[in-house]
Amino acid sequence: MALIVHKYGGTSMGSTERIRNVAKRVAKWVRAGHQLVVVPSAMSGETNRLLGLAKELSPEKLGPDALRELDAIAATGEQVSVGLLALALQAEGLGAVSYGGWQVPIQTDSAFTKARIASIDDTRVRADLAAGKVVIITGFQGIDPDGHVTTLGRGGSDTSAVAVAAAMKAHECLIYTDVDGVYTTDPRIVPEAQRLSTISFEEMLEMASLGSKVLQIRSVEFAGKYRVPLRVLSSFTPWDIDIIEEARSGTLITFEEDEKMEQAVVSGIAFNRDEAKITVMGVPDKPGIAYQILGPVADANIDIDVIIQNVSHDGKTDFSFTVHRNDYAKTLDLLTNTVAPATGALQVLGDPKICKVSIVGIGMRSHVGVASTMFRTLSEEGINIQMISTSEIKTSVVIDEKYMELAVRALHKAFGLDAAATA
Ligand code: ADP
Ligand code: ASP
Ligand code: MG
Repeated sequence: MALIVHKYGGTSMGSTERIRNVAKRVAKWVRAGHQLVVVPSAMSGETNRLLGLAKELSPEKLGPDALRELDAIAATGEQVSVGLLALALQAEGLGAVSYGGWQVPIQTDSAFTKARIASIDDTRVRADLAAGKVVIITGFQGIDPDGHVTTLGRGGSDTSAVAVAAAMKAHECLIYTDVDGVYTTDPRIVPEAQRLSTISFEEMLEMASLGSKVLQIRSVEFAGKYRVPLRVLSSFTPWDIDIIEEARSGTLITFEEDEKMEQAVVSGIAFNRDEAKITVMGVPDKPGIAYQILGPVADANIDIDVIIQNVSHDGKTDFSFTVHRNDYAKTLDLLTNTVAPATGALQVLGDPKICKVSIVGIGMRSHVGVASTMFRTLSEEGINIQMISTSEIKTSVVIDEKYMELAVRALHKAFGLDAAATA
């Protein structure tokens, strides 16, 4: 008997019929002798619907009081899901009990809309499991030290599931979604993308942080920190497929390097449309200028991603960086009204219509010329690179948003990832 955590995403929970299927799949695992904790997301579209309603009534600039209410509202989506799934499991003849994050409790910090899990008390959950029940816990939410409901950021149910698995030392955490694993890139953009049977934890971390939304980045961080065996698989296979076959399907996140005989140089392509670029033109090129520009941005709690500073002309230089698109207006405002007058910058320009495309692979450590293949491929497609950033196992470029799909497809092909190329 093993303790297994299942997570079901919004599409998998998208209708009562699908919830019934989830219940049948969970029941199959219980009947095979396992203890099950299930973490479902809100039904598909529900979180967007709730946040849309909130937006209609929200002030232009959201203060902490408004963010608190957003979390209270968004958390209801998962609350409905857990109750429905418990009913469906009970209808299957199983004992089942549902809990909101606050009931477990899943303790978080107070960063509304992007809270981090601090601790999970599994006493209650263990007692229910010992009594033979399936325990269903809301994804995406927790409770802060003052008793306020918090949410973990979009896609946060992955993190809830992995955190529960880590806290309870589960045998495995299975992330059931609407694709049958992690692909070389988003199969909705590149139909030739291929499923990876394994992906290293480091690559998965890069893919997630660079925009592959199949797993929320924090879930991968948790898996790495606590060595949670993690697998991404489909909830759309027939619920009654053989349990051994199901347990081996999808993509396994591995923690051992060199598991594959021959490591592909590039394992995957990620893209991110959620960033915006800000350029500060004509700032004096002198020590401390980067701090004068970026210090106030960091103080305003705005995360900065890619940064470049140009060579100077006549003692002046241009400085560009990217931020999340949600922070674009705030950053532009801050730079135009505060930073520019203080630094003597000539102009502040913004461009929200950019995207970041990245190639990822631990094979890049031992191969030279990977980045130049990337740049050549983009130039052959006539795509201008605006910014570049590299690390040991990834190269990212910032380009015009309108070329995103073209760039991803061309790079996927150039690095031999198309299904036809390896078939
Ligand atoms: P869920 O609701 O189950 O959490 P998500 O929509 O959050 O599902 O994540 C699954 C989606 O992630 C897929 O439908 C796919 O479009 C997208 N995706 C992006 N990059 C990848 C990738 N490299 N491999 C697989 N899916 C990816
Ligand atoms: N329901 C939340 C969202 O849509 C959390 C999740 O699905 O993981 O972002
Ligand atoms: Mg998701």
